[in-house]
Amino acid sequence: MTVQPTTGDRLVDYDEVLRRYEPVIGLEVHVELSTNSKMFCGCATDFGAEPNTQVCPTCLGLPGSMPVVNEKAIEAAIRIGLALNCSVVPWCRFARKNYFYPDMPKDYQVSQYDEPICVDGYLDVSVPTEDGTRIVRVGIERVHMEEDTGKLTHAGGVTGRIHGADYSLVDYNRAGVPLIEIVTKPVTGTGELAPVVAKAYVAELRELVRSLGVSDVRMEEGSLRCDANLSIAAAGEPWGTRTETKNVNSLRSVERAIRYEVRRQAAVLDTGGRIVQETRHFHEDDGTTTPGRSKEQAEDYRYFPEPDLVPVAPDPDWVARLRSELPEPPAERRERLRADWGISEFDMSSVINAGALDLVVETIAAGSDHAGARKWWLGELAREANERGVALAELPVTPVDVARVEELIATGALNDKLARQVLSGVLAGEGGPDAVVSNRGLAVLQDEGALIAEIDEVIAAQPEIVAKIRAGKSAAAGALIGSVMKATRGKADAARVRELLLERIGD
Ligand code: ADP
Ligand code: MG
Ligand code: ZN
Repeated sequence: MTVQPTTGDRLVDYDEVLRRYEPVIGLEVHVELSTNSKMFCGCATDFGAEPNTQVCPTCLGLPGSMPVVNEKAIEAAIRIGLALNCSVVPWCRFARKNYFYPDMPKDYQVSQYDEPICVDGYLDVSVPTEDGTRIVRVGIERVHMEEDTGKLTHAGGVTGRIHGADYSLVDYNRAGVPLIEIVTKPVTGTGELAPVVAKAYVAELRELVRSLGVSDVRMEEGSLRCDANLSIAAAGEPWGTRTETKNVNSLRSVERAIRYEVRRQAAVLDTGGRIVQETRHFHEDDGTTTPGRSKEQAEDYRYFPEPDLVPVAPDPDWVARLRSELPEPPAERRERLRADWGISEFDMSSVINAGALDLVVETIAAGSDHAGARKWWLGELAREANERGVALAELPVTPVDVARVEELIATGALNDKLARQVLSGVLAGEGGPDAVVSNRGLAVLQDEGALIAEIDEVIAAQPEIVAKIRAGKSAAAGALIGSVMKATRGKADAARVRELLLERIGD
């Protein structure tokens, strides 16, 4: 079956493609480092500063300026490479990539070309399938260092693209910010899972880089960017021509972009066409891709070794120390915690997908048990974050608050219903749990005398129900418990109310 979206592309049904073609994927991920200063000068790198306030003669490429490499950026590149099981080369150089475009005032970008700092590694990615989790080993071709470009804003047009714009603004604050590019080897043999593998790889890489503390890895802000390559070929044929969908800026988009390209390329091949090697743009709104620039002619960037920078020859002792200081890999940490807590892989993936792992761990560290911690972060708080459109970690409630609420429940000072009100008070900025409890008067009724008085009133008011209970229909007690909870505005401990109620009716 073929359908046609608004792009005019014909698309083959996804499952149909996979019966006849093998996809090959390749991912290029750029990570913007969170170093205090730029790659080759001392300029600040703060996100969102006034345009062109974080610039100097070096990152503007003014005559006579000389770059000096940022040691922290090299350290980050090596740590990323080691975490990806790469070899760190004994010696490498920077290269000039020459091109003329206003986003780079020097008219070249300092990058690495045929001498990257780390090569030949892998990252194991776990992918959910119908028959359980499958581990796919994604080969890493290279990890290299480069500098980011400036940011162009095309004004006056409707699309924000240069086409149709009246003029363009340029901000060089980002020019020279350190970037690490991580390029996979072609990934084969994943079949119908290709889009999911692509997404899972970027997700795992993001966790890995986050665990190293070298970048914010925020796809929405562009500190992690992904270009997704895809080709398809009939089974047994050599690999097909790839397209490269640029700057896909969410995990979901990585999966959608690959899925779209699989279907589009199949339709082209099925109708006797040929795939053009080109970059493509992904459109979030309808999940389509459209052509960017052709890569049929090899671009001539006239790469040559950067003459203003000395080669990089990392001291083997330094590399050995960086290796020994790597944190526990995220996948191992997840498995360790899952086993500790004794929960299923499914329950663990709910925690991960909610972005709640660190919050749950911190809540446990603050005294909660794992079930309580998971319940709040994945339930009430996840709903709230979703409504506000923010990440869980951005909610104005801390793991310590959640642990305190759990403690108040454990001591019987709060029941579940009151606890929810306490959290909503904390979220509304009314202070910590204890302040909300005392200001809103939310503690469970601890005064048994007062509780018994309420119960006796309910018993007196509903003699028919009492009679039923006396006749052995203890299920009827629910209605009376409900009345007592209502009378106490939810502040009674329901289990205790039941006990007292049956005791007094039995008298
Ligand atoms: P470029 O400079 O064109 O972006 P890179 O080498 O940086 O090239 O990245 C190309 C990416 O595409 C790599 O991840 C590589 O593994 C992948 N790749 C190469 N050939 C194919 C193919 N036939 N199909 C899919 N992906 C491919
Ligand atoms: Mg590339
Ligand atoms: Zn500078």
